[in-house]
This record gives sequence, structure tokens and C-alpha cells, in this order.
Amino acid sequence: MILPDSHAHLPGVAEDLGGAALEGLLADYAAAWAVPGFCRPWLVDIGTQAGDFPARLALSGPRPFLGYSLGIWPGLPALEDVPGSLAALEADLASARAREAYPGELVVAIGECGLDYHHMDGSPASQAALFEGQLDLAAREGLPTIIHTRDAFEATLGLIKGRGGRQALLIHCFGYGPKEAEAFLAEGCLVSFAGNLSYKKAEALRAALALVPRGRLLLETDSPYMNPEPRRGRPCSPRDIERTYALAASLLGLSPEALEAELSQTLGAFLFPQRLGQ
Ligand SMILES: [Zn+2]
Repeated sequence: MILPDSHAHLPGVAEDLGGAALEGLLADYAAAWAVPGFCRPWLVDIGTQAGDFPARLALSGPRPFLGYSLGIWPGLPALEDVPGSLAALEADLASARAREAYPGELVVAIGECGLDYHHMDGSPASQAALFEGQLDLAAREGLPTIIHTRDAFEATLGLIKGRGGRQALLIHCFGYGPKEAEAFLAEGCLVSFAGNLSYKKAEALRAALALVPRGRLLLETDSPYMNPEPRRGRPCSPRDIERTYALAASLLGLSPEALEAELSQTLGAFLFPQRLGQ
């Protein structure tokens, strides 16, 4: 079953599962998308480095159901030259936009960007500078921001404080607990859960899910990572999001169909708020 996935790394899917698997996946999304709705895309391919967009576009192509985000993950070599990295990203965005027939045809968001104190590839100060530069770019361009935050709750919250009223923010692959979810929600963020929602020790994630109000919740694969149980540890694709929908729907007391309808609307409103007049 084909369902909305707010966060996938399609080059990684092709690398781990094969180019034919990606082709088949994209064909199935195209067929599922044949019934038009206001929500497009259903699938977001996430950038992690400056300069990665042309190869991603060549791999997956312009597709009516697929949006691309452009962003820099807080790692090396980007953190060694933050101003240079941000300038390169801005140039990427300008050249991607120049290929669009209309705004949003290809580029739908900035990210993933944020703070990773688990890997700690660069100092907190350099990570903050790279993150803030991308938050500012997204604000200038009127694009939503997809945020990566790992073991860096306080610092992430500090950097987004006050922005939520002015720009759309999504905490992707939420990895904290109910208290942190409430704090991000209070700042206006959307919260997206990945396959780790199904992991045995993820009670805090499941408790956080229950707190997210309607219209602020999304689901994702973060494929090829985070395969939901019972296939944890193996590479996954956006097809595997079906198990995350089923679990989230049962936790929320909804039918999977009702959850899909709700999340399609939420993803559309997040990526294209201007179409809803928000
Ligand atoms: Zn990711």
C-alpha cells in the first residue's frame, strides 16, 4: 500500500535495495497519485549535503507526487566551512528554482538541518551557525524547514524559539519524550515519527505521539534507515511506512484510512501553506 511519507532518502533506498526497487516504488506512487487531491507531493526526498540535488533529481526525476528538500545535515565536511556551505546551498536552491515551471514544482522545503550532539561532528557553535543559516534561508524563501535533532533538545529549542509563528517547522524522526514534544508543539512545530515508534523500548515515543494534536502529526520512514518492526536493522523503503501507519492508527484509536486522510492533509498544508490561505 502506498502512503504519504514525509521523509525518505531515495538515493540511499536505491543503493541499499537496488535501482529496480526504486523504479518500482516510484511507479506505484505514480499510480496511487492518479486520483488528484490538493496534497502533492506524497513523498519527500530529503537532502543532506550542498550539491546533492542534481544527482537526486537525475535519479528520481521530476514527479508530480514527489517533492525535494535541500539542506545540509550537521556533519563533515559542511561544519568545517559554515559560510561556504551555506553559500553553496543558496546557489543550489537558486539553480533548482530556475528549473521549476512554478514555485514548489521541485523544491518544497529546506532540510534536513539541525543539531546532532550524538555524532558531534563539529562544535555546538558551528552546528548552531549551520542550522540558523538554514532557518534564515527558509524564512527568506518562504519554505518550510525539516529539522534533525538528536541528543540536543535544549539547544534545538533555543534556536527555533519564536520562529514557529512565522515559518513552518517540522521535527523529523522525533526521538525524545512527551515533555520535549510538548515544548516543540508550543513553538508551533509539527512532529514526525519514524519506524522507531515500533521499537520495543520506545515507550516515550509512543507516549509523545498521543500528545500531538490533529494537524500537527506526520509519519515518515527516514528510509533506508529506521525500518519498523519486525524488520528493524534492515534497509527499508517508503513502502515500509505501512506498518508505522498501522501502529500509529491503533495507538490513536483511528482507522489506518482515517489517519492517512488526516496526514495527507497535514503534509499538504505543511509544504504548501499558501494554497490553503494560511
Ligand atoms: Zn533523514
